[in-house]
Amino acid sequence: MAATDDHLLTRVLRAGAPPFEDGAAPVNVPVVRTSTVRFESDAARVELHHRREAGESVGTYGRHGMATHHALEAAIGELEDASEVLLAPSGLSAITLVFIALLSPGDHVLVQDSVYGPVRERAEPLLTRLGVSFSYFSASEGVPAAHVRPNTRLIYAESPSSFFYEVVDLPALAAFARERGILLAADNTWGAGLLYRPLALGADISVQATTKYLGGHSDLMQGAVSTANAALAQKLRDTHDALGLSVGADDAYLALRGIRTLAVRLAQHGRNAFEVAQYLQTERHAVTRVFHPALPDDPGHALWRRDFAGANGLVSFALRHADHDKARAFIDALRLFGIGASWGGYESLALIAPPSRVREHSYWQDSAPVVRLHVGLEDPADLIDDLKQAFRRVVQ
Ligand SMILES: *Cc1c(COP(=O)(O)O)cnc(C)c1O
Repeated sequence: MAATDDHLLTRVLRAGAPPFEDGAAPVNVPVVRTSTVRFESDAARVELHHRREAGESVGTYGRHGMATHHALEAAIGELEDASEVLLAPSGLSAITLVFIALLSPGDHVLVQDSVYGPVRERAEPLLTRLGVSFSYFSASEGVPAAHVRPNTRLIYAESPSSFFYEVVDLPALAAFARERGILLAADNTWGAGLLYRPLALGADISVQATTKYLGGHSDLMQGAVSTANAALAQKLRDTHDALGLSVGADDAYLALRGIRTLAVRLAQHGRNAFEVAQYLQTERHAVTRVFHPALPDDPGHALWRRDFAGANGLVSFALRHADHDKARAFIDALRLFGIGASWGGYESLALIAPPSRVREHSYWQDSAPVVRLHVGLEDPADLIDDLKQAFRRVVQ
């Protein structure tokens, strides 16, 4: 198992702590809600604008972020090993920002086929209209040599991927891209920075839906784009600025608050999910396959052990002898698991993987319905009992 760098947790907890003023400081950064910033003099205004343009984290206008945002950016920077972090109003806007910032008409982007669904459904049509072409590769093929074109500018990976947790050999993909002068971006929502560090493994850009584990309480929408490459940072910043992307100070505060307890929450999600996944493997009459990279027989297990520091609360499984109606009856019979999309909060959720999305994943070509669980922080024995009673009522 890849080890979490010992000092990472300490750095993440200290990042963005407010400095002493008059000999004292609050533990947490204040929520600075403002549009306008007042300056003591015009000279101060000009100086602060210059400092901001030179890359310093100073507040000059609400849209560009204030102290609360800067503290959050510093903490995400530690999680992602990044020198530049841009906040966005959702995970999807963070992903689309990467495409718009780095791709121009005539460019081609190669996207992993098991990517988060709205990338195909929403971002691809927008970028196609702007003259960018998309194609998809399967991470199980290894490096996507057959799909690269002379105009391929970006490879976009998501590891482990949505619904099935297909693990990509990111260092191999990074070496492949670098040799060809292609940029590599990775969606790091699953790993949240503590479990997976795409920039350290060679990616140029890491994107997260901070909506999920960083927020951790299902009470905010937010995304972040991180990089350690100054030239890319400038491109991303320019586009971020042109789109006027900004995040409310309250949401920035909530995300930072979530980050302070990320390590303990993730560890518990991972333990609970592993128990649930092992239990699901015993339900042989009802379940054909369980997807979770910490299971030793998962196809991504070896790469996961090499590159990840742990697993999160996501577990999916395919139902045996069931159609969509039966799958629906099964999740309706659950009492503790809520029915809902999204994940990363403290609570357990269940969702039938949309069949149209499942079909796009070359990783799994079976027609059996797939249920995705987000295993929360409840007592895992209660969650397993809940699943057992639903199987008894519906599937047998
Ligand atoms: C949820 C999710 C997103 C999108 O995040 P939103 O904040 O809901 O827009 C992106 N990538 C992955 C892997 C996700 O699970």
